[in-house]
Amino acid sequence: MANATNTETITVHNYIGGQWKEPATGRWVTCVNPARASEAVAQAPASDRADLDGAVASAEAARPSWRKLTGAQRGALLFKAADLLESRMEEIGRAMTREMGKTLGEAKGETARGAAILRYYAGEGMRPVGDVIPSTDADALMFTTRAPLGVVGVITPWNFPVAIPIWKMAPALIYGNAVVWKPALETSVTASLIMACFHDAGFPSGAVNMVIGDGAVIGQAIAEHPGIHGVTFTGSGAVGKRVGQTALARGAKYQLEMGGKNPIVIAADADLDLAVDATISGGLRSTGQKCTATSRVIVVRDVYEPFRAKLLEKVKALRVGDGLNADTWLGPCASRKQYETVLRYVDKGKEEGAELLVGGGRPEDPALADGYFVTPAVFDKVTPSMMIAREEIFGPVLALIEARDLEEAIALANDTEFGLSASLYTRDIASALKFMQESEAGLVRVNAETAGVELQAPFGGMKSSSSHSREQGQAAIEFYTSVKTVFIKP
Ligand code: NAD
Repeated sequence: MANATNTETITVHNYIGGQWKEPATGRWVTCVNPARASEAVAQAPASDRADLDGAVASAEAARPSWRKLTGAQRGALLFKAADLLESRMEEIGRAMTREMGKTLGEAKGETARGAAILRYYAGEGMRPVGDVIPSTDADALMFTTRAPLGVVGVITPWNFPVAIPIWKMAPALIYGNAVVWKPALETSVTASLIMACFHDAGFPSGAVNMVIGDGAVIGQAIAEHPGIHGVTFTGSGAVGKRVGQTALARGAKYQLEMGGKNPIVIAADADLDLAVDATISGGLRSTGQKCTATSRVIVVRDVYEPFRAKLLEKVKALRVGDGLNADTWLGPCASRKQYETVLRYVDKGKEEGAELLVGGGRPEDPALADGYFVTPAVFDKVTPSMMIAREEIFGPVLALIEARDLEEAIALANDTEFGLSASLYTRDIASALKFMQESEAGLVRVNAETAGVELQAPFGGMKSSSSHSREQGQAAIEFYTSVKTVFIKP
């Protein structure tokens, strides 16, 4: 089991059949702190298919007795895991910040969210799962019930290393599935701390398993494995589509949540101070690495200049630094790959003729020279055909786009292959209703930032942001179970 303190390098193990295990390969990968790349945070297992086979076999062995428990019994274990997660919030938060850079406040907040999700689904074990449907046969009873899928494979990204795995594993488990989880390599310490909570809560061995390794090896193997009956994936579009195609080809159920290019629309009657705060918080918190992060800022002409001036003033004041420092507002990009991607898009934006008003480079502070830091960037004069207006950057970059009026602003907001989240700032109820109706996004928010997901509400995207399924809240039951229609005649 991992123990996250200070600057030590933690050796992480797989968790299979209730035991911590070394990878069959005997190989490990070094993961570094993005705020200080010379600091190794973890030696993470470079697992291969033999490890996955072991995890699937353990899950298969555990699932008959796991599904026979009552929802209340499974729920009791989820409640215990929630208490443990909450009591270890400081340790888990620190591990998360060291591994992927988000500020400690955000990391602890996410851990608290993880505990709340566990409790929500613990309660789900006691809620109705079907309907009684009037039969045309007067003597018969007809109703629906739900069956678990069996073994569920869970593939998750590094950007919300507690919340996303838990919003997948908690419903999978409460509805009676066994789980094999492949976390992102970058956040393997956080992952092992979550597994430790499940272990210490007393989950039966094999009900939940974790195999860490390269995505192309273990993620692909999960999609292909005949012993895995459903695959739930969150990550990038390119990988997600491959996972979905692979699962579909062998008849497994799958669910994909992928990228976004989320717009905030600022109407002429918006409260500009609130709109600026929401743009900054939605676009730059977590260094812009939320799937729901604001990326396109579409401002109606009448208020374009005052909005831009207020935005710039506040963006310039944001403090970039190590997420463990209390005065840091914005941590580093999570990895070298992310950092290079962000800088590439900044160059591309300049090449395409957008005007970089602020940021988009390395901070001057020499103490940050060893980290993957990029100062928060605001581009002006962005047109809808530019790459920085079309592709997901996943970094601290805002693209300002001017619109003639609200009509054009909504059209611009919808002019994207993605459809995850969209927000509008206005004081007018008619504009709010119009936006709600016309927005091509799974999450529509008025006078609130694009990034904001409540655990009890359905979450997922339209267009290429998702496989059109929904996660969280009671919507989760649709993926993790199959409906059985039952007809009983005495
Ligand atoms: P990614 O697609 O690179 O990786 C996601 C997961 O897939 C990781 O566990 C990774 O190891 C694994 N993986 C990598 N290659 C694989 C392969 N060939 N087969 C199977 N699995 C493989 O994404 P990322 O960089 O970790 O995360 C960032 C992306 O995730 C962004 O696009 C972001 O928008 C998206 N995201 C979406 C949501 C959402 O709910 N819609 C939430 C968070 C993040």
